[in-house]
Amino acid sequence: MAALVRLFTASRQAQLTGVRTIQARCQSSVDIDREGCFINVNPQKSPLAAQDVATITEHVPKSLFIAELVKGMSIVQSMMFREQATLNYPFEKGPLSPRFRGEHALRRYPSGEERCIACKLCEAICPAQAITIEAETRADGSRRTTRYDIDMTKCIFCGFCQEACPVDAIVEGPNFEYSTETHEELLYNKEKLLNNGDQWEPAISANLQADYLYR
Ligand code: SF4
Ligand code: SF4
Repeated sequence: MAALVRLFTASRQAQLTGVRTIQARCQSSVDIDREGCFINVNPQKSPLAAQDVATITEHVPKSLFIAELVKGMSIVQSMMFREQATLNYPFEKGPLSPRFRGEHALRRYPSGEERCIACKLCEAICPAQAITIEAETRADGSRRTTRYDIDMTKCIFCGFCQEACPVDAIVEGPNFEYSTETHEELLYNKEKLLNNGDQWEPAISANLQADYLYR
């Protein structure tokens, strides 16, 4: 009987020792699965650390948009004292280059005679085929156009017609305010182009004079 009691006590102590060994491994090892322990998918959080408090102190004002609000208002106030970047168009207009390519115009000489000699170079060079010219020889032997049309809806404002013209007759003037409501209004004929030339001649001649060294 005494031997039986000693055998049971030894067996019980060995069992307890094995349990303690596994508990110690489970607490210290990261390789929990191989040791036959459970995996704690929701580890308990430790009490609030000083580092967490600092993080919260930094992010809470940002999340309340206070920092962004102050930053935005400071930018607005700094812009109030700077020069405006916008224009109150059409009451204010920005500067235009002498090379600006605006609405087309046919020019005249100071005597009133048309400059165009109907050489058709502008018609030939126009990549958009927007120019149509018909010509005749006058009684004095000069050659003049009877028809000079530009389809402004085809024009790509490349400026080739102006560059090709040997007498500076067809030009792209400084006018850019010629929007219309219908397609037909943008089919310019000779009369319209000559009227443009008469209207814008001072500005056109000033632009040509400013740019003549580079042509
Ligand atoms: S600016 Fe160019 S596309 Fe327009 S009419 Fe002159 S050559 Fe043709
Ligand atoms: S506008 Fe100039 S290029 Fe065109 S036909 Fe007249 S003279 Fe020739």
